[in-house]
Amino acid sequence: MDVLVSLCKRRGFIFQSSEIYGGTGAAWDYGPLGVELKNNIKRVWWRDNIHLRPDMVGLDASILMHPQVWKASGHLDHFTDPMVDCKACQHRFRADKVEEQSWIHYCPATKGNKFEVPAGEPCKHCNVRRSLCPDCGKGELTTPRQFNLMFKTFMGPVEEDAAVTYLRPETAQGIFVNFDNVLQSMRLKLPFGIAQIGKAFRNEITPGNFIFRTREFEQMEIEFFVNPLETIDGRPADEVWHERWIESRFAWYQRYGMRRENLRIREHEKDELAHYAKRTVDIEYQFPIGWSELEGVANRTDFDLKQHAQFSGKSLTYFDEDRKQHVVPYVIEPSAGADRSLLAFLADAYREEEVRGDRRVVLRFHPDLAPVKIAVLPLLKKRPEIVTTAHDLRATLARRWVTVYDDTAAIGRLYRRQDEVGTPYCVTVDVQTVGDSAKGEPGDRCVTIRERDSMEQIRVPIAELQGIFERLLGDGAWADVARSYPPARG
Ligand code: ATP
Repeated sequence: MDVLVSLCKRRGFIFQSSEIYGGTGAAWDYGPLGVELKNNIKRVWWRDNIHLRPDMVGLDASILMHPQVWKASGHLDHFTDPMVDCKACQHRFRADKVEEQSWIHYCPATKGNKFEVPAGEPCKHCNVRRSLCPDCGKGELTTPRQFNLMFKTFMGPVEEDAAVTYLRPETAQGIFVNFDNVLQSMRLKLPFGIAQIGKAFRNEITPGNFIFRTREFEQMEIEFFVNPLETIDGRPADEVWHERWIESRFAWYQRYGMRRENLRIREHEKDELAHYAKRTVDIEYQFPIGWSELEGVANRTDFDLKQHAQFSGKSLTYFDEDRKQHVVPYVIEPSAGADRSLLAFLADAYREEEVRGDRRVVLRFHPDLAPVKIAVLPLLKKRPEIVTTAHDLRATLARRWVTVYDDTAAIGRLYRRQDEVGTPYCVTVDVQTVGDSAKGEPGDRCVTIRERDSMEQIRVPIAELQGIFERLLGDGAWADVARSYPPARG
Protein backbone atom coordinates (compact mmCIF):
# COMPACT_ATOMS: atom_id res chain seq x y z
CA MET A 1 0.00 0.00 0.00
CA ASP A 2 2.84 2.41 0.84
CA VAL A 3 4.21 1.95 -2.68
CA LEU A 4 0.85 2.90 -4.19
CA VAL A 5 0.39 5.88 -1.88
CA SER A 6 3.82 7.19 -2.78
CA LEU A 7 3.32 6.64 -6.54
CA CYS A 8 -0.04 8.38 -6.34
CA LYS A 9 1.47 11.43 -4.70
CA ARG A 10 4.59 11.59 -6.87
CA ARG A 11 2.71 11.25 -10.15
CA GLY A 12 -0.28 13.45 -9.36
CA PHE A 13 -2.98 10.85 -8.77
CA ILE A 14 -3.95 11.42 -5.14
CA PHE A 15 -2.89 13.91 -2.47
CA GLN A 16 -3.78 14.03 1.17
CA SER A 17 -6.56 16.55 1.77
CA SER A 18 -5.32 19.83 3.31
CA GLU A 19 -1.80 18.42 3.39
CA ILE A 20 -0.13 21.78 4.10
CA TYR A 21 -2.11 21.86 7.37
CA GLY A 22 -1.02 18.38 8.32
CA GLY A 23 -3.75 16.50 6.41
CA THR A 24 -6.89 14.86 7.75
CA GLY A 25 -6.26 11.18 7.05
CA ALA A 26 -9.99 10.82 6.41
CA ALA A 27 -10.22 12.56 3.04
CA TRP A 28 -8.10 12.63 -0.10
CA ASP A 29 -7.83 14.91 -3.12
CA TYR A 30 -7.56 13.62 -6.67
CA GLY A 31 -4.77 15.27 -8.63
CA PRO A 32 -4.57 15.83 -12.40
CA LEU A 33 -4.17 12.13 -13.26
CA GLY A 34 -6.37 10.87 -10.43
CA VAL A 35 -9.35 12.90 -11.54
CA GLU A 36 -9.01 11.51 -15.08
CA LEU A 37 -8.79 7.95 -13.78
CA LYS A 38 -11.79 8.36 -11.49
CA ASN A 39 -13.84 10.06 -14.21
CA ASN A 40 -13.00 7.19 -16.56
CA ILE A 41 -14.17 4.61 -14.02
CA LYS A 42 -17.41 6.50 -13.51
CA ARG A 43 -17.83 6.99 -17.28
CA VAL A 44 -17.51 3.29 -18.16
CA TRP A 45 -19.75 2.33 -15.24
CA TRP A 46 -22.40 4.77 -16.51
CA ARG A 47 -22.01 3.68 -20.11
CA ASP A 48 -22.19 -0.04 -19.35
CA ASN A 49 -24.95 0.10 -16.76
CA ILE A 50 -27.16 2.83 -18.21
CA HIS A 51 -26.50 3.73 -21.83
CA LEU A 52 -25.96 0.19 -23.05
CA ARG A 53 -29.00 -1.25 -21.26
CA PRO A 54 -32.60 -0.75 -22.34
CA ASP A 55 -33.88 -1.22 -18.78
CA MET A 56 -31.86 1.45 -16.91
CA VAL A 57 -32.07 5.22 -16.44
CA GLY A 58 -29.91 7.68 -14.50
CA LEU A 59 -30.52 10.21 -11.72
CA ASP A 60 -28.60 12.89 -9.86
CA ALA A 61 -30.30 13.58 -6.53
CA SER A 62 -29.17 16.19 -4.02
CA ILE A 63 -26.90 15.46 -1.09
CA LEU A 64 -29.06 17.35 1.39
CA MET A 65 -32.43 15.70 1.80
CA HIS A 66 -35.48 16.09 4.04
CA PRO A 67 -34.49 14.80 7.51
CA GLN A 68 -37.51 12.47 7.50
CA VAL A 69 -35.78 10.48 4.75
CA TRP A 70 -33.27 9.25 7.31
CA LYS A 71 -35.94 8.41 9.84
CA ALA A 72 -37.82 6.35 7.24
CA SER A 73 -34.71 4.64 5.89
CA GLY A 74 -33.67 3.57 9.38
CA HIS A 75 -30.37 5.47 9.28
CA LEU A 76 -31.25 7.72 12.23
CA ASP A 77 -31.91 4.77 14.49
CA HIS A 78 -29.71 2.04 13.06
CA PHE A 79 -26.83 3.48 11.01
CA THR A 80 -24.39 2.93 13.80
CA ASP A 81 -21.11 1.17 14.34
CA PRO A 82 -19.99 -0.22 17.70
CA MET A 83 -17.13 1.88 19.00
CA VAL A 84 -14.56 1.12 21.72
CA ASP A 85 -11.95 3.44 23.26
CA CYS A 86 -8.59 2.69 24.81
CA LYS A 87 -8.61 3.84 28.44
CA ALA A 88 -4.87 4.61 28.29
CA CYS A 89 -4.10 6.19 24.90
CA GLN A 90 -7.70 7.18 24.07
CA HIS A 91 -7.44 5.73 20.58
CA ARG A 92 -10.82 4.79 19.15
CA PHE A 93 -11.67 1.63 17.20
CA ARG A 94 -14.59 -0.01 15.47
CA ALA A 95 -15.32 -2.91 17.81
CA ASP A 96 -15.98 -5.26 14.89
CA LYS A 97 -12.70 -4.37 13.19
CA VAL A 98 -10.21 -4.43 16.11
CA GLU A 99 -9.13 -7.94 15.23
CA GLU A 100 -8.35 -6.87 11.65
CA GLN A 101 -5.25 -4.89 12.60
CA SER A 102 -1.87 -5.96 13.90
CA TRP A 103 -1.42 -5.42 17.62
CA ILE A 104 1.28 -4.27 20.01
CA HIS A 105 2.16 -6.79 22.68
CA TYR A 106 4.52 -6.62 25.66
CA CYS A 107 5.26 -10.32 25.91
CA PRO A 108 5.60 -11.78 29.47
CA ALA A 109 7.46 -14.80 28.04
CA THR A 110 10.28 -12.56 26.78
CA LYS A 111 10.73 -10.27 29.81
CA GLY A 112 8.09 -7.84 28.50
CA ASN A 113 9.71 -7.24 25.12
CA LYS A 114 7.56 -5.30 22.68
CA PHE A 115 6.30 -7.09 19.52
CA GLU A 116 3.95 -6.23 16.71
CA VAL A 117 1.79 -9.32 16.23
CA PRO A 118 0.00 -9.87 12.88
CA ALA A 119 -3.77 -9.28 12.80
CA GLY A 120 -5.87 -12.06 14.32
CA GLU A 121 -2.87 -14.15 15.41
CA PRO A 122 -1.69 -15.02 18.92
CA CYS A 123 1.80 -14.05 20.14
CA LYS A 124 4.19 -16.73 18.91
CA HIS A 125 6.18 -16.61 22.16
CA CYS A 126 3.47 -16.82 24.82
CA ASN A 127 0.52 -17.89 22.62
CA VAL A 128 -1.69 -15.23 24.19
CA ARG A 129 -4.33 -13.44 22.09
CA ARG A 130 -4.96 -9.70 22.06
CA SER A 131 -7.09 -8.37 24.88
CA LEU A 132 -5.75 -4.83 25.29
CA CYS A 133 -5.50 -1.80 22.98
CA PRO A 134 -3.86 -2.88 19.69
CA ASP A 135 -2.12 0.50 19.30
CA CYS A 136 -0.45 1.02 22.69
CA GLY A 137 -0.60 -2.56 23.97
CA LYS A 138 -1.30 -1.30 27.50
CA GLY A 139 -4.79 0.16 27.92
CA GLU A 140 -8.00 -1.74 28.39
CA LEU A 141 -10.74 -1.17 25.85
CA THR A 142 -14.14 0.17 26.95
CA THR A 143 -17.28 -1.85 26.30
CA PRO A 144 -18.76 -1.09 22.85
CA ARG A 145 -21.04 1.94 22.43
CA GLN A 146 -23.15 2.59 19.36
CA PHE A 147 -22.07 5.62 17.34
CA ASN A 148 -24.20 7.09 14.50
CA LEU A 149 -22.13 7.58 11.38
CA MET A 150 -24.19 10.35 9.80
CA PHE A 151 -22.75 13.85 9.54
CA LYS A 152 -25.16 16.30 11.13
CA THR A 153 -25.57 19.84 9.84
CA PHE A 154 -28.09 22.69 9.78
CA MET A 155 -30.25 23.77 6.87
CA GLY A 156 -30.63 27.56 6.85
CA PRO A 157 -29.23 30.37 9.00
CA VAL A 158 -30.46 29.24 12.42
CA GLU A 159 -28.71 26.47 14.28
CA GLU A 160 -31.74 24.98 16.00
CA ASP A 161 -33.11 21.46 16.34
CA ALA A 162 -35.78 22.06 13.72
CA ALA A 163 -33.09 22.87 11.14
CA VAL A 164 -31.02 19.72 11.69
CA THR A 165 -30.31 17.69 8.59
CA TYR A 166 -27.66 15.24 7.44
CA LEU A 167 -25.17 14.77 4.64
CA ARG A 168 -26.39 11.64 2.86
CA PRO A 169 -24.53 8.49 3.97
CA GLU A 170 -25.51 6.70 0.74
CA THR A 171 -26.92 7.73 -2.61
CA ALA A 172 -29.61 5.03 -2.62
CA GLN A 173 -32.28 6.99 -0.72
CA GLY A 174 -32.29 9.72 -3.40
CA ILE A 175 -33.39 7.00 -5.81
CA PHE A 176 -36.14 5.59 -3.58
CA VAL A 177 -37.73 8.97 -2.89
CA ASN A 178 -37.74 9.72 -6.63
CA PHE A 179 -39.16 6.31 -7.58
CA ASP A 180 -42.57 7.65 -8.58
CA ASN A 181 -41.17 10.74 -10.36
CA VAL A 182 -38.95 8.57 -12.53
CA LEU A 183 -41.60 5.89 -13.10
CA GLN A 184 -44.23 8.41 -14.25
CA SER A 185 -42.00 10.76 -16.24
CA MET A 186 -40.23 7.98 -18.13
CA ARG A 187 -43.28 5.66 -18.48
CA LEU A 188 -41.24 2.67 -17.36
CA LYS A 189 -42.29 -0.95 -17.09
CA LEU A 190 -40.94 -3.39 -14.51
CA PRO A 191 -38.25 -4.61 -14.31
CA PHE A 192 -36.18 -1.43 -14.58
CA GLY A 193 -33.38 0.23 -12.68
CA ILE A 194 -32.32 3.71 -11.64
CA ALA A 195 -28.63 4.45 -11.25
CA GLN A 196 -26.77 7.26 -9.61
CA ILE A 197 -23.20 8.32 -8.96
CA GLY A 198 -22.53 10.79 -6.19
CA LYS A 199 -20.83 11.77 -2.97
CA ALA A 200 -21.71 10.11 0.30
CA PHE A 201 -20.46 10.96 3.78
CA ARG A 202 -19.90 8.75 6.79
CA ASN A 203 -18.29 9.79 10.02
CA GLU A 204 -16.26 6.58 10.08
CA ILE A 205 -14.74 5.76 13.48
CA THR A 206 -11.54 4.50 11.96
CA PRO A 207 -10.99 5.80 8.45
CA GLY A 208 -7.77 4.63 6.88
CA ASN A 209 -5.93 2.40 4.47
CA PHE A 210 -5.57 5.28 2.00
CA ILE A 211 -8.78 5.75 -0.01
CA PHE A 212 -10.25 2.41 1.10
CA ARG A 213 -12.20 3.94 3.98
CA THR A 214 -12.72 7.70 4.05
CA ARG A 215 -15.33 10.01 5.51
CA GLU A 216 -16.20 11.54 2.14
CA PHE A 217 -16.41 9.21 -0.84
CA GLU A 218 -18.29 8.54 -4.03
CA GLN A 219 -20.75 5.75 -4.64
CA MET A 220 -22.01 4.23 -7.86
CA GLU A 221 -25.37 2.71 -7.00
CA ILE A 222 -28.14 0.93 -8.85
CA GLU A 223 -31.62 0.22 -7.56
CA PHE A 224 -33.17 -2.36 -9.85
CA PHE A 225 -36.93 -2.75 -9.34
CA VAL A 226 -38.58 -6.13 -9.92
CA ASN A 227 -42.21 -7.23 -9.85
CA PRO A 228 -42.53 -9.53 -6.78
CA LEU A 229 -45.42 -11.40 -8.42
CA GLU A 230 -43.33 -12.43 -11.42
CA THR A 231 -41.42 -15.65 -11.79
CA ILE A 232 -38.66 -16.59 -14.20
CA ASP A 233 -38.39 -20.30 -14.99
CA GLY A 234 -40.50 -21.04 -11.95
CA ARG A 235 -38.35 -19.03 -9.56
CA PRO A 236 -39.14 -15.65 -7.93
CA ALA A 237 -37.98 -12.93 -10.35
CA ASP A 238 -36.16 -10.98 -7.62
CA GLU A 239 -33.92 -13.98 -6.87
CA VAL A 240 -33.09 -14.49 -10.53
CA TRP A 241 -32.34 -10.79 -11.06
CA HIS A 242 -30.18 -10.78 -7.97
CA GLU A 243 -28.05 -13.54 -9.47
CA ARG A 244 -27.90 -11.78 -12.82
CA TRP A 245 -26.64 -8.61 -11.19
CA ILE A 246 -24.01 -10.45 -9.14
CA GLU A 247 -22.70 -12.04 -12.34
CA SER A 248 -22.86 -8.82 -14.30
CA ARG A 249 -21.00 -6.80 -11.67
CA PHE A 250 -18.41 -9.53 -11.12
CA ALA A 251 -17.74 -9.66 -14.87
CA TRP A 252 -17.58 -5.86 -15.11
CA TYR A 253 -14.43 -5.57 -12.99
CA GLN A 254 -12.74 -8.21 -15.11
CA ARG A 255 -13.77 -6.51 -18.34
CA TYR A 256 -11.60 -3.57 -17.30
CA GLY A 257 -8.60 -5.70 -16.52
CA MET A 258 -8.97 -6.81 -12.91
CA ARG A 259 -7.51 -10.27 -12.51
CA ARG A 260 -10.00 -13.04 -11.75
CA GLU A 261 -7.84 -14.45 -8.96
CA ASN A 262 -8.06 -11.14 -7.09
CA LEU A 263 -11.86 -11.16 -7.03
CA ARG A 264 -14.25 -13.33 -5.08
CA ILE A 265 -17.86 -13.48 -3.96
CA ARG A 266 -18.70 -13.63 -0.26
CA GLU A 267 -22.18 -14.59 0.83
CA HIS A 268 -23.48 -12.76 3.92
CA GLU A 269 -24.28 -15.13 6.76
CA LYS A 270 -27.83 -15.07 8.14
CA ASP A 271 -26.74 -13.22 11.32
CA GLU A 272 -24.85 -10.63 9.27
CA LEU A 273 -27.76 -9.79 6.94
CA ALA A 274 -29.44 -6.42 7.38
CA HIS A 275 -32.95 -6.95 8.79
CA TYR A 276 -34.58 -5.94 5.47
CA ALA A 277 -32.29 -7.99 3.22
CA LYS A 278 -33.36 -11.31 1.76
CA ARG A 279 -29.85 -12.07 0.54
CA THR A 280 -26.62 -10.05 0.21
CA VAL A 281 -23.29 -10.86 -1.33
CA ASP A 282 -20.13 -8.82 -1.31
CA ILE A 283 -17.82 -8.72 -4.29
CA GLU A 284 -14.45 -8.74 -2.56
CA TYR A 285 -11.07 -7.75 -3.91
CA GLN A 286 -7.69 -8.83 -2.64
CA PHE A 287 -6.49 -5.35 -1.64
CA PRO A 288 -2.97 -4.81 -0.29
CA ILE A 289 -4.68 -4.91 3.15
CA GLY A 290 -6.24 -8.31 2.38
CA TRP A 291 -9.62 -9.47 1.04
CA SER A 292 -12.19 -6.71 1.57
CA GLU A 293 -15.50 -5.48 0.20
CA LEU A 294 -15.39 -3.75 -3.14
CA GLU A 295 -19.12 -3.78 -3.84
CA GLY A 296 -22.24 -5.07 -2.12
CA VAL A 297 -25.12 -6.60 -4.08
CA ALA A 298 -28.23 -6.84 -1.90
CA ASN A 299 -31.82 -7.96 -2.33
CA ARG A 300 -33.51 -5.26 -0.20
CA THR A 301 -37.04 -6.57 -0.87
CA ASP A 302 -39.79 -3.92 -0.70
CA PHE A 303 -38.46 -2.46 2.56
CA ASP A 304 -37.36 0.97 1.32
CA LEU A 305 -40.38 1.81 -0.82
CA LYS A 306 -42.75 0.67 1.93
CA GLN A 307 -40.94 2.72 4.56
CA HIS A 308 -41.00 5.88 2.44
CA ALA A 309 -44.66 5.32 1.54
CA GLN A 310 -45.49 5.00 5.22
CA PHE A 311 -43.48 8.04 6.37
CA SER A 312 -44.45 10.33 3.47
CA GLY A 313 -48.05 9.21 3.11
CA LYS A 314 -47.52 8.94 -0.67
CA SER A 315 -48.20 5.79 -2.64
CA LEU A 316 -45.01 4.24 -4.02
CA THR A 317 -46.45 1.38 -6.01
CA TYR A 318 -46.47 0.10 -9.56
CA PHE A 319 -49.63 -0.82 -11.40
CA ASP A 320 -49.35 -4.31 -12.83
CA GLU A 321 -51.51 -4.06 -15.99
CA ASP A 322 -51.70 -7.81 -16.53
CA ARG A 323 -52.84 -8.63 -13.03
CA LYS A 324 -54.73 -5.36 -12.60
CA GLN A 325 -53.25 -4.71 -9.20
CA HIS A 326 -50.81 -2.40 -7.47
CA VAL A 327 -47.55 -3.92 -6.29
CA VAL A 328 -44.62 -2.64 -4.28
CA PRO A 329 -41.54 -3.65 -6.29
CA TYR A 330 -38.67 -5.58 -4.78
CA VAL A 331 -35.27 -4.00 -5.28
CA ILE A 332 -31.84 -5.40 -6.11
CA GLU A 333 -29.05 -3.02 -5.15
CA PRO A 334 -25.54 -3.29 -6.60
CA SER A 335 -23.68 -0.66 -4.59
CA ALA A 336 -20.07 0.12 -5.49
CA GLY A 337 -17.57 2.71 -4.30
CA ALA A 338 -15.88 4.79 -7.00
CA ASP A 339 -12.83 5.41 -4.80
CA ARG A 340 -12.57 1.79 -3.69
CA SER A 341 -12.85 0.67 -7.31
CA LEU A 342 -10.09 3.09 -8.21
CA LEU A 343 -7.87 1.64 -5.49
CA ALA A 344 -8.56 -1.88 -6.74
CA PHE A 345 -7.92 -1.00 -10.39
CA LEU A 346 -4.73 0.77 -9.37
CA ALA A 347 -3.47 -2.11 -7.22
CA ASP A 348 -4.27 -4.62 -9.95
CA ALA A 349 -2.59 -2.60 -12.69
CA TYR A 350 0.64 -2.04 -10.74
CA ARG A 351 3.65 -4.09 -11.90
CA GLU A 352 7.36 -3.91 -11.29
CA GLU A 353 9.22 -5.44 -14.21
CA GLU A 354 12.78 -6.10 -15.22
CA VAL A 355 13.62 -4.77 -18.70
CA ARG A 356 17.13 -5.36 -20.05
CA GLY A 357 18.60 -5.15 -16.56
CA ASP A 358 16.53 -2.08 -15.62
CA ARG A 359 13.53 -1.96 -13.32
CA ARG A 360 10.40 -0.42 -14.75
CA VAL A 361 7.18 0.38 -12.94
CA VAL A 362 4.14 0.10 -15.13
CA LEU A 363 0.44 0.59 -14.56
CA ARG A 364 -1.24 -1.81 -16.95
CA PHE A 365 -4.54 0.06 -17.04
CA HIS A 366 -7.22 -0.94 -19.51
CA PRO A 367 -7.09 1.76 -22.22
CA ASP A 368 -10.62 2.94 -21.29
CA LEU A 369 -9.39 3.65 -17.75
CA ALA A 370 -5.92 5.04 -18.46
CA PRO A 371 -5.82 8.74 -17.46
CA VAL A 372 -3.77 9.64 -20.54
CA LYS A 373 -4.29 7.67 -23.74
CA ILE A 374 -1.45 9.02 -25.88
CA ALA A 375 1.80 10.85 -25.14
CA VAL A 376 3.48 12.66 -28.03
CA LEU A 377 7.22 12.87 -27.51
CA PRO A 378 9.84 14.70 -29.58
CA LEU A 379 13.09 12.76 -29.92
CA LEU A 380 15.17 15.95 -30.04
CA LYS A 381 13.87 19.14 -28.57
CA LYS A 382 16.49 21.38 -30.17
CA ARG A 383 15.07 20.72 -33.66
CA PRO A 384 12.17 23.17 -34.09
CA GLU A 385 10.52 21.12 -36.90
CA ILE A 386 10.36 18.09 -34.61
CA VAL A 387 8.90 20.09 -31.73
CA THR A 388 6.35 21.86 -33.94
CA THR A 389 5.24 18.61 -35.54
CA ALA A 390 4.86 17.00 -32.12
CA HIS A 391 2.81 19.94 -30.80
CA ASP A 392 0.58 19.83 -33.89
CA LEU A 393 0.06 16.10 -33.47
CA ARG A 394 -0.86 16.52 -29.83
CA ALA A 395 -3.37 19.23 -30.70
CA THR A 396 -5.00 17.04 -33.37
CA LEU A 397 -5.16 13.86 -31.28
CA ALA A 398 -6.33 15.74 -28.16
CA ARG A 399 -9.62 16.58 -29.87
CA ARG A 400 -10.52 12.91 -29.62
CA TRP A 401 -8.38 11.41 -26.80
CA VAL A 402 -6.56 12.71 -23.74
CA THR A 403 -3.13 13.38 -25.23
CA VAL A 404 -0.11 15.03 -23.64
CA TYR A 405 3.16 16.43 -24.95
CA ASP A 406 6.37 15.94 -22.95
CA ASP A 407 9.93 16.97 -23.79
CA THR A 408 11.41 17.27 -20.32
CA ALA A 409 13.81 14.32 -20.52
CA ALA A 410 15.54 11.92 -22.88
CA ILE A 411 13.29 9.49 -24.72
CA GLY A 412 14.01 6.42 -22.55
CA ARG A 413 13.10 8.36 -19.45
CA LEU A 414 9.97 9.78 -21.09
CA TYR A 415 8.79 6.26 -21.93
CA ARG A 416 9.35 5.12 -18.33
CA ARG A 417 7.36 8.07 -17.03
CA GLN A 418 4.43 7.26 -19.26
CA ASP A 419 4.63 3.57 -18.27
CA GLU A 420 4.46 4.60 -14.63
CA VAL A 421 1.16 6.44 -15.14
CA GLY A 422 -0.27 3.78 -17.44
CA THR A 423 -0.34 5.62 -20.80
CA PRO A 424 -1.05 2.87 -23.35
CA TYR A 425 0.62 4.54 -26.36
CA CYS A 426 3.52 6.89 -27.02
CA VAL A 427 4.04 8.59 -30.37
CA THR A 428 7.60 9.69 -31.12
CA VAL A 429 8.52 12.30 -33.69
CA ASP A 430 12.13 12.04 -34.84
CA VAL A 431 14.60 13.35 -37.46
CA GLN A 432 13.32 10.92 -40.07
CA THR A 433 9.79 12.25 -39.62
CA VAL A 434 10.64 15.83 -40.55
CA GLY A 435 13.83 15.39 -42.63
CA ASP A 436 16.45 18.16 -42.87
CA SER A 437 15.36 21.23 -44.79
CA ALA A 438 18.92 22.74 -44.71
CA LYS A 439 20.19 19.71 -46.63
CA GLY A 440 17.07 19.58 -48.77
CA GLU A 441 16.13 16.17 -47.32
CA PRO A 442 12.39 15.59 -47.04
CA GLY A 443 10.97 13.75 -44.04
CA ASP A 444 9.06 10.49 -44.38
CA ARG A 445 6.08 11.99 -42.43
CA CYS A 446 6.03 8.80 -40.34
CA VAL A 447 6.17 8.47 -36.56
CA THR A 448 6.84 5.65 -34.12
CA ILE A 449 4.05 4.25 -31.96
CA ARG A 450 5.18 2.37 -28.85
CA GLU A 451 2.84 0.07 -26.97
CA ARG A 452 3.11 0.15 -23.17
CA ASP A 453 2.84 -3.54 -22.22
CA SER A 454 4.84 -5.24 -24.98
CA MET A 455 7.07 -2.17 -25.55
CA GLU A 456 6.88 -3.03 -29.25
CA GLN A 457 7.21 -0.20 -31.73
CA ILE A 458 5.83 0.31 -35.23
CA ARG A 459 6.45 2.97 -37.82
CA VAL A 460 3.27 4.54 -39.20
CA PRO A 461 2.39 7.45 -41.51
CA ILE A 462 1.09 10.54 -39.69
CA ALA A 463 -1.81 10.59 -42.12
CA GLU A 464 -2.99 7.22 -40.74
CA LEU A 465 -2.54 8.00 -37.03
CA GLN A 466 -6.13 9.00 -36.37
CA GLY A 467 -7.48 5.80 -37.95
CA ILE A 468 -4.94 3.65 -36.12
CA PHE A 469 -5.91 5.09 -32.75
CA GLU A 470 -9.60 4.69 -33.57
CA ARG A 471 -8.81 0.98 -33.74
CA LEU A 472 -6.31 0.77 -30.87
CA LEU A 473 -8.43 2.75 -28.44
CA GLY A 474 -11.62 1.16 -29.73
CA ASP A 475 -11.87 -2.61 -29.95
CA GLY A 476 -8.69 -3.30 -31.93
CA ALA A 477 -5.89 -5.42 -30.50
CA TRP A 478 -2.30 -4.17 -30.74
CA ALA A 479 -1.11 -7.37 -32.44
CA ASP A 480 -3.69 -7.01 -35.21
CA VAL A 481 -2.89 -3.37 -35.88
CA ALA A 482 0.89 -3.81 -35.57
CA ARG A 483 0.87 -6.59 -38.17
CA SER A 484 0.15 -4.07 -40.94
CA TYR A 485 3.14 -1.81 -40.21
CA PRO A 486 6.91 -2.23 -40.16
CA PRO A 487 8.53 -2.52 -36.75
CA ALA A 488 10.51 0.50 -35.57
CA ARG A 489 13.91 0.37 -33.88
CA GLY A 490 13.65 0.19 -30.07
P1 ATP B 1 -17.91 -1.43 5.18
O1 ATP B 1 -18.42 -2.73 5.75
O2 ATP B 1 -16.57 -1.53 4.49
O3 ATP B 1 -18.02 -0.27 6.11
P2 ATP B 1 -20.47 -1.11 4.00
O4 ATP B 1 -20.95 -2.52 3.91
O5 ATP B 1 -20.99 -0.23 5.06
O6 ATP B 1 -18.88 -1.06 3.96
P3 ATP B 1 -22.06 -0.21 1.87
O7 ATP B 1 -22.97 0.55 2.74
O8 ATP B 1 -22.54 -1.50 1.30
O9 ATP B 1 -20.68 -0.42 2.59
O10 ATP B 1 -21.54 0.75 0.72
C1 ATP B 1 -21.40 0.34 -0.62
C2 ATP B 1 -20.01 0.60 -1.13
O11 ATP B 1 -19.62 1.95 -0.87
C3 ATP B 1 -18.93 -0.25 -0.47
O12 ATP B 1 -18.85 -1.51 -1.09
C4 ATP B 1 -17.69 0.58 -0.73
O13 ATP B 1 -17.20 0.35 -2.04
C5 ATP B 1 -18.21 1.99 -0.64
N1 ATP B 1 -17.95 2.55 0.69
C6 ATP B 1 -18.69 2.41 1.80
N2 ATP B 1 -18.13 3.07 2.84
C7 ATP B 1 -17.01 3.66 2.36
C8 ATP B 1 -16.00 4.51 2.92
N3 ATP B 1 -16.06 4.90 4.20
N4 ATP B 1 -14.99 4.91 2.14
C9 ATP B 1 -14.92 4.56 0.83
N5 ATP B 1 -15.85 3.77 0.25
C10 ATP B 1 -16.88 3.33 0.99
